[in-house]
Amino acid sequence: MDDATLSPHFRLSELTVSQTAVRRGLRNDPPSGAVSNLRRLAHALEDVRRALGDVPIIVSSGYRSPKVNSLVGGSPTSLHLQGLAADFTAPAFGTPRQICQRIIDVGILYEELIFEGAWVHFGLAAPGAVPQRKLLTAIFLKGGPTRYVGGLL
Ligand SMILES: [Zn+2]
Repeated sequence: MDDATLSPHFRLSELTVSQTAVRRGLRNDPPSGAVSNLRRLAHALEDVRRALGDVPIIVSSGYRSPKVNSLVGGSPTSLHLQGLAADFTAPAFGTPRQICQRIIDVGILYEELIFEGAWVHFGLAAPGAVPQRKLLTAIFLKGGPTRYVGGLL
């Protein structure tokens, strides 16, 4: 697959990156439906980038194949499986929490916005669906599973 440009600042390779896939020697190639979702996601990330003052957005996980998703402990219904979610940071703007706050303040539409501590999870609604604007904060407890609570804590 060639490294298509999805939007002015995002290439397909950036939204299919997976350290886990590289480490395990797995392919993480999205099917065509996921590629069109990734294009929508890239355009939404352009809106986020603009809201952050045009600083670089560093995506750590976008599309995940079912195998990669299960290896990273992703939910079986994760939007990453459809190419509808990206985990990212933007250190030149601020902390993940500050990024979440900015996305909320600017009114960018999302299906899921999760403050994951070290990164932001930004998810879009499926094509044609009304975005649900689920805002969550991940709570990490020693030795237990990650819990999610409503709101930005
Ligand atoms: Zn995520």
